[in-house]
Amino acid sequence: MITLPPLSLYIHIPWCFKKCPYCDFNTYVTKNKIPEKEYIRHLILDLKKDINLTSNRIINSIFIGGGTPSLFHYESINMLLKEIKKCVYVSPSAEITIETNPKDIEYKKILKYKEIGITRLSIGIQTFNEKKLHILSRDKEYIDIPNIKTIIHDIKFKNVNFDIMYGLPSQSLKNALSDLKTAISLNPHHISWYQLTIEPNTIFYSKKLNLPNSENMWKIWKEGRKLLTQSGYQQYEISSYAKKGYYCKHNINYWKYGDYVGIGCGAHGKLTQKNGSLIRVIKNKGVFDFINGKYINKIYKVKDQDKPFEYFMNTLRLFQPTYRKNFVKYTFLKEKYIKKNIESAISQNYLQETLLTWKTTKKGKLFLNNLLEIFLHD
Ligand code: SF4
Repeated sequence: MITLPPLSLYIHIPWCFKKCPYCDFNTYVTKNKIPEKEYIRHLILDLKKDINLTSNRIINSIFIGGGTPSLFHYESINMLLKEIKKCVYVSPSAEITIETNPKDIEYKKILKYKEIGITRLSIGIQTFNEKKLHILSRDKEYIDIPNIKTIIHDIKFKNVNFDIMYGLPSQSLKNALSDLKTAISLNPHHISWYQLTIEPNTIFYSKKLNLPNSENMWKIWKEGRKLLTQSGYQQYEISSYAKKGYYCKHNINYWKYGDYVGIGCGAHGKLTQKNGSLIRVIKNKGVFDFINGKYINKIYKVKDQDKPFEYFMNTLRLFQPTYRKNFVKYTFLKEKYIKKNIESAISQNYLQETLLTWKTTKKGKLFLNNLLEIFLHD
């Protein structure tokens, strides 16, 4: 019998009230009232169109991301979840995450999130430092530490995540560690600690920024990692640290090369079919297209030759060994399809093989791009 990979649902809410200078996500600045109801109606129609590609699988996790989903009224989020549950079967134990802007952390709103079934709150803090907030075009009032502390302490969410960035312009080691210390003192279950990357088509790309050099970046990473792990956070992925039992199920599904439906402007989906073909669905980025019913931008079948690279690009991000049987289960390819690539990765000391698993060596972790190149087809 064919077993398809586990299935998640990603929902993209594209609005923000300001564009951050480092952000290359598909977002739109809103000055007017957001057409929440209309957008939700189209999200559901979009979902209904993708359902026939899901083989009626259960949804194990939902991630409401953006943009800034917390700009929506909690009643709209409630309506969205209710409508989704009418269309697809959502596991009663599903992890349901919403991304929130620290500015939107209000008692009533956060309490309502919990009441409507959201289990994981992800707060985009980035930094607690006033000067750095200013560089990121975020104002001081963004981060009200006592307020965040009270709310996450009183409203006991199953899982709270803080997004914290490092490698900010003129950031010292002390400054980066101070951000982490403040985050740790607030005791979230999960911390996503990731490096600022300068992407094309962002304001930062066109600016001369005084970023920490590679030696200082390495020190920040090494010391930050030490601080987090000594404080009880396990690193389970390149940028993800969590207390035991609080890993993000939704992201793990991506990194295990699981399947997902992506709805909303610019969302992506990956859906394996019973015949072993893997379909990618890419939605239109523009809000106007979307709310005019033009959801799909592109739909295509992933070629077998591209699957190994995609598979390892995701699975090798995780710090646990990859089960060899999962390669077959998730790609529908035989292991002999990558025999030569695996041999090459082992001979270059990037990968270790056991009877059941593959694991990146220290060298493989340091030179991950070189390791991945081995799985690129000619
Ligand atoms: S709030 Fe987040 S999604 Fe919106 S522009 Fe800033 S970084 Fe991008």
